[in-house]
Amino acid sequence: MNYNALVDQYPHIDIHLNTPLSNYTYTNTGGPADVLAFPKNSQEVQDLLVWLKETQTPLTILGNASNLIVKDGGIRGLVLMLTSLTDITVKGSVVEVASGASLIETCQKARDEHLTGLEFACGIPGSVGGAIFMNAGAYGGEIQDVIESVDVITGDGEFKTYTNDACNFGYRQSVFQETGDVIVNAKFRLEPGDITAIQNKMDELTKMRQDRQPLEFPSCGSVFKRPEGYFAGKLIQDAGLQGYQIGGAKVSKKHAGFIINVDKATGADYIALIKHIQDAVWEKDGVRLEREVKIIGDDA
Ligand SMILES: Cc1cc2nc3c(=O)[nH]c(=O)nc-3n(C[C@H](O)[C@H](O)[C@H](O)COP(=O)(O)OP(=O)(O)OC[C@H]3O[C@@H](n4cnc5c(N)ncnc54)[C@H](O)[C@@H]3O)c2cc1C
Repeated sequence: MNYNALVDQYPHIDIHLNTPLSNYTYTNTGGPADVLAFPKNSQEVQDLLVWLKETQTPLTILGNASNLIVKDGGIRGLVLMLTSLTDITVKGSVVEVASGASLIETCQKARDEHLTGLEFACGIPGSVGGAIFMNAGAYGGEIQDVIESVDVITGDGEFKTYTNDACNFGYRQSVFQETGDVIVNAKFRLEPGDITAIQNKMDELTKMRQDRQPLEFPSCGSVFKRPEGYFAGKLIQDAGLQGYQIGGAKVSKKHAGFIINVDKATGADYIALIKHIQDAVWEKDGVRLEREVKIIGDDA
């Protein structure tokens, strides 16, 4: 495929050819994207989706790339990274946000407007779109608790709105994991609150994160979902894997549910370590750890 034609057709869209994704992922791993595009508004997203359909080019969607591992061979086709869609507006108790906006900045904006309900998410480093896709959650809260509606563009280039019910949220699940729609916008319904109480809650949760998570290293957060009746971190710890390392990827000693990049880890190092952990925990406790993080792209 000659992607220069795409650049010529849409000179106003920020498009990069053959770009290493390790510059963008939270784990600092991943080979090159054939094309990496940063649309600035929904119209540009729609233009690209129509072009993709016409040319039968594969699409990969990235938010802030904080919950995925990109393999070392990179990604064929077009990677749409939505972090340039950043508008946040507040009307009464409703916060309307473009999908590439940072979830952390959205929490801060809600606080500044004296709105409560999003404090649980104040340390989740994803975009709003990625958080909706994953139904991200922490400290007893989940995105599904605060979403009013979600606007998407379908693979056919059509705009569509989902109500909260239609999003089919579950534990780290949403309908968007099946539809492949591009989330472009969302409305959060919050409640009026006391700004000091909101700030205190955010400070308390931030301190808990700093104390328990290895935030000083690149990682993709908790690698595994919480198995029913267990904690993934505890199972990994009990299997004696804290500090275990393959290549540059290491099981964190601070939080065994995190795999940190300590020395130029590759996607292959991450994937090998994930498999090693799954096998060891299965052998020790008979529990199958299911991945929360997505693995995408081609082998080197
Ligand atoms: C230090 C650290 C701490 C973390 N703590 C938490 C936590 O407490 N709770 C938690 O739930 N997660 C946590 N995470 C994981 C991660 O931040 C969340 O899952 C976040 O919601 C992912 O958002 P993202 O924009 O980075 O998504 P990405 O990693 O870019 O993508 C994740 C998935 O969402 C899809 N996607 C992204 N944007 C869109 C869109 N606009 N439209 C359609 N699909 C899209 C992608 O295709 C991909 O399949 C943590 C990660 C790190 C690194």
